[in-house]
Amino acid sequence: MLKVCKFGGTSMADATQYRKIRDIVRSDPTRRIVVVSAAGKRFPKDNKITDLLYLCHEHIRYGVNYEIIFDMVRKRYISIRNELGLRRNIEAELDLLRDKIEQGISREELVSRGEYLSAILMADFLDFPFVDARNWLFFHYDGTIDQDRSYAALRRIVGEGCAVIPGFYGLMPDGKIRTLTRGGSDITGALAAAALDADVYENWTDVSGILMADPNIVENPRTIEQATYSELRQLSYSGAKVLHEMTVFPVREKNIPLNIRNTNDPEHPGTMVREEFKESSSDRKRFVTGIAGKCDYSAVTIHKKGMAGSVGNLRNMAEIFENNTVPICYTPTGIDCISMVCPTEKLTPHMYSITDDLRREMRPDSIKVTDSIAIIAVVGRKMAYRTGAAGMIFAALGEANINIRMISQGPEELNILVGVDHKDYENAVRVLYNAFVK
Ligand code: ASP
Repeated sequence: MLKVCKFGGTSMADATQYRKIRDIVRSDPTRRIVVVSAAGKRFPKDNKITDLLYLCHEHIRYGVNYEIIFDMVRKRYISIRNELGLRRNIEAELDLLRDKIEQGISREELVSRGEYLSAILMADFLDFPFVDARNWLFFHYDGTIDQDRSYAALRRIVGEGCAVIPGFYGLMPDGKIRTLTRGGSDITGALAAAALDADVYENWTDVSGILMADPNIVENPRTIEQATYSELRQLSYSGAKVLHEMTVFPVREKNIPLNIRNTNDPEHPGTMVREEFKESSSDRKRFVTGIAGKCDYSAVTIHKKGMAGSVGNLRNMAEIFENNTVPICYTPTGIDCISMVCPTEKLTPHMYSITDDLRREMRPDSIKVTDSIAIIAVVGRKMAYRTGAAGMIFAALGEANINIRMISQGPEELNILVGVDHKDYENAVRVLYNAFVK
């Protein structure tokens, strides 16, 4: 049995958090592989070490003195080392880093050092070997991960043993450090779990799993106890702040369950994510897994008499968006009209060019751009092929006097999307939560 445990930035923020991690790891001998983030925020106005390192690099780039910022990084790791009573000469590591900065370190290497320093200290504290990500996490030149080579390397290095691994970075074929995108330690953890065929990938953070709705909108939302990988994907795509969105792919490929847990409440079982669950009929009562949403979408709608009877319109319109590099999120259509819904911030810079192209290429009777649309996704595997879900959504929103501006359902019937006016967004989320969850 093997559990790969990834601890995020707030779990690594200070010595108190390191102690919590030690207790979690020691309480279960199968927790043999620990993947760590750089130190995160200790309190809301605090700084994340990775942000400071990015900032440091910007200072260097513009020739501004970076000492004050570097010193904040230095002090944080020295204080963790001191408070934990470790003997590691972290000053030597920091001096080495400073020398490298003076010689012209790359941005990616510099920002990866938060994870590196975190992992060195955690390895000492747990008395586990430190396994540098540069020795096993290999990228191809195009920035994708060389999974076969990476997996084989990690298996060779770790065997049946223990390890602490820094997240967020790996090695390019030319020997340079490369980082994943922000929040990428989640992916390192998933890759380590897949490489070692772990029985579970535990992702430890500062909330007790994924919540059924945004806690800034709904008071004390319930935790999602079980979700499928598809539901997780739907929820994070639709706006739920969960994990890095690429996290699920490596573990899903190997059918490894993902358990999202809270370092500050280790007894809480969190959220378990799997490919599927055996469901009894009593489980079917609550058929919504979660509600997520995002604001600031725009819809570009064209009308043209007789369009429904001719071919190629959807493709023509999509091509115009593609040529303007604007992603399309949803495509509600009516008779003789098509809408393309996209994030407003992506549309705005290309809006005139798109409307111009549409006018020229499609000769519509009218083009309308509507802003301030919020899209809410009601997600649930138990909604599939079941009557009543859509009815409940519309009834609840109707009773609350909320106008629905767009409706869409995915073909797998895993989600129902409703578009509402920005001003109705929060109310609509609360209404739906109360209708389906409470
Ligand atoms: N430290 C990195 C970031 O802040 C990676 C991570 O924590 O996952 O993005």
